[in-house]
Amino acid sequence: MKSLITTGDGSAKLVEVADPVAGPGELLVAPIAAGICGTDLEIISGHGDPAFVKYPASLGHEWAGKVIGYGAGVSEPAIGSRVVVTGIIPCQECFECKNGDTNRCLIYDEIGFTRPGAAAYLITVPARLAHVVGDSVSDESAVLAEPTAVVTQAFMKADPKAGSKILIIGDGSIALISATMAKTYKPKLIHMLGLKAGQNEIAKAAGVDLFLTEATAEKYDLIIEAAGAPTRISAAIGQLVRGGTLLLLGYPGHQKTAALVIDDVINGDLNIIGSFGSSLAAWEKTVAMFNSGELDLGYLVTHKFKLSDFSEAITALESAPAPRGKIALIIN
Ligand SMILES: [Zn+2]
Ligand SMILES: [Zn+2]
Repeated sequence: MKSLITTGDGSAKLVEVADPVAGPGELLVAPIAAGICGTDLEIISGHGDPAFVKYPASLGHEWAGKVIGYGAGVSEPAIGSRVVVTGIIPCQECFECKNGDTNRCLIYDEIGFTRPGAAAYLITVPARLAHVVGDSVSDESAVLAEPTAVVTQAFMKADPKAGSKILIIGDGSIALISATMAKTYKPKLIHMLGLKAGQNEIAKAAGVDLFLTEATAEKYDLIIEAAGAPTRISAAIGQLVRGGTLLLLGYPGHQKTAALVIDDVINGDLNIIGSFGSSLAAWEKTVAMFNSGELDLGYLVTHKFKLSDFSEAITALESAPAPRGKIALIIN
């Protein structure tokens, strides 16, 4: 079969590799589609945090697939079931896993980072980590399970209060998913500070009340930084009400720094929260929200390419004009 592989030298190639075989406790899954994101660009360029990638890396950490076979000891979910799979594989034995913080498993192992990804015609995954997606959920929503679980994880930590004023900085997929997620917490308002005016319509579809392209003097209870812009992070501190929360989701690149007015943080009684990846609990919550209809992200996939046209997909990710949501590779 073919798999999209990079050595971190700035390029990716569709390479012929041996078909994976489901081992004990594993499922054999045919990916339906895989989304690509800025993190894939970092893996391809070699500019991501080296602690979290194993080269040569097989891409595809955002995906949904269909079960087509079982390894020893596995008999469900049924063949043909659509599944999404917890990306960070918890060892279930370390201190973090035992406390439910499987996103921080001490033996870091993640689909599309340290183990083969789903930008390939086949993948094997631990059956215990597969979540069945209901018939009412579109493929477009299902393929967004991984970035959504990342957002769910962060929101579980930030826990916005009903009636909050929320600002989201950035207008990419994580920012847009954050808006749709924020809506489920019944906020007073959701503003988005984007870069491209052309994202206005898709931001509205995501649940944003007001799309801005320039900062205002308004104060917020929760600011979600999803652009990875150090200057925006510094400015956001000054835009929080006392007791407010800054949630950092945008990754500015390895070892980037941002200036901080410490008085504002202390006297403002502020919370600054980082959030890494997604735990098993975040995946369970995400899939439950999809399956109940509480969360529908069907609006977000705006660009589709065949896996064989991956280089056009990467070009679109780097430079397609707004409006732009998630870019997905259609596989099987
Ligand atoms: Zn991603
Ligand atoms: Zn662990």
